[in-house]
Amino acid sequence: MSVWDDVVGQREAVATLRSAAEAARGIADGGDSRGTGMTHAWLVTGPPGSGRSVAARAFAAALACTDPHEVGCGHCHGCTTALAGTHADVQVIATERVSFKIEDMRPIVSDAQQAPSQGRWRVMLMEDADRMVERTSNVLLKAIEEPPPRTVWLLCAPSPQDLIATIRSRCRTVSLRVPAAEDVAELLVRRDGIEPRIALMAARAAQSHVGVARRLATDPQARERRRAILTVPSRIRGVGDAVLAAADLVELAQAEGKAATEERDAAERAELLRTLGAEGETRLPPAVRSQVKRLEDNQKSRATRAQRDVLDRAMVDLLSLYRDVLVVQLGADVPLVNTDLEAEVRALAADSSAEQTVQRMDAVGTARTRLAANVAPLLAVEAMMVGLRPQASSARL
Ligand SMILES: [Zn+2]
Repeated sequence: MSVWDDVVGQREAVATLRSAAEAARGIADGGDSRGTGMTHAWLVTGPPGSGRSVAARAFAAALACTDPHEVGCGHCHGCTTALAGTHADVQVIATERVSFKIEDMRPIVSDAQQAPSQGRWRVMLMEDADRMVERTSNVLLKAIEEPPPRTVWLLCAPSPQDLIATIRSRCRTVSLRVPAAEDVAELLVRRDGIEPRIALMAARAAQSHVGVARRLATDPQARERRRAILTVPSRIRGVGDAVLAAADLVELAQAEGKAATEERDAAERAELLRTLGAEGETRLPPAVRSQVKRLEDNQKSRATRAQRDVLDRAMVDLLSLYRDVLVVQLGADVPLVNTDLEAEVRALAADSSAEQTVQRMDAVGTARTRLAANVAPLLAVEAMMVGLRPQASSARL
C-alpha cells in the first residue's frame, strides 16, 4: 500500500510527483534542489472528476511522509494524517462559494510564511484555484513569487488557462487525464467493496468521475434522479412539454442545492449567534446584524453554487446521452456511456438524424455556457429544452 493507490489511471502524473517527493526529501535534508524536478509551486490540472485533489493530497502526504525507506509509504503518521487532513503542516484551502474572497486569502498567505512545525515541508493545497478573481489572484501571486524555503503550493484547477499567466508561469504543471472507466470501477471494487458489474456501469455512466461514480453505485436515489433527467428527451413532444420539463429540472436543482446546504446554514447561524452572545435575542444589535448579514451572503453564494453544480451535472449527463445516440447513428465501435438506457438511446437514434443529434448537443452546450455566465437558470434551461424537442431540428433541416 502507498499514498498513490487512490490516484487511479494517472501513471505519468504519479511518476512525476513521486520522483519530486523523493527529491524533496533530499533537499530538505540539505541537498541541492537544482535539476531535481522539485519546486515551490505546482499546478495540478485535469477535467472535473479526474482526481486533482486526490493527486494533490497524495503528493502532500508523500512530502509529509516520515518512513525512512519509502517516500509516501501510506501508513506512517505523516502519511495518514496528511491524507486525513489533520497534519499540522498541510493546509487544505477550498471554497464552497462561487469564488474565493480576497479577505480569505490574506491570512492564508501569511500562514504560508511560517516554517513547518513538525515535518520537512509546509504544504498549501488549494483546491478550486480557478475560483479567484484577479484581485485575489494577485495576493496569491505575491506569495508564490517569494516562497519561504520550506513552503510548497499545490494549486488545483481544470486547466492552466484558468489561472492568470503570471501565476501559471511560476508553477510546474502536472496534467491529469480522464481515467479509463475500468480503472475507476476497479477502485470502487477495491476501496468501497462495490460489486464489479455495478461498479463498471456506474463508472461508465459517470464518465469516469470518481465521486459521481461512487454516488451512483451506492445511492439508489442518485441513480433514480439521473434516470429521470435522461428520460426527459424521449418525453418531450412539443414546446409545452419542453417548458414544463425545464421548470421541473430547475426546481429539482434548487431542491438539491437547498438540501445540500440548509442544515449547515442553520447550524452556522446558531453558532455565530452563540459566539456573539446574541443567542435567543429577538432583535439583533446592529454590530451583530452586520456579521449575520455577511454569513447569510456567504450561505447564499454557497447555495447558488450548489444549484449551479447540480444543473451542470444534469447537462453533462444529457450530453452523454446524445453522445451515445450519435455513436449508434454513426455505427461507431465504442462502448455506450449509458448502458442502462440502451433502449432509450436506440429509440432516439432511430427517430432522428446525426445532424439533429449534433444540433441538440449544441443546444445543451449553449445552455451550459449561459449558466456559467450567470443567465437566469430557468431561461437557459427552457431554451435548451425547446431545442431538444423533435420538431426543433427537423424544421431547420
Ligand atoms: Zn509515510
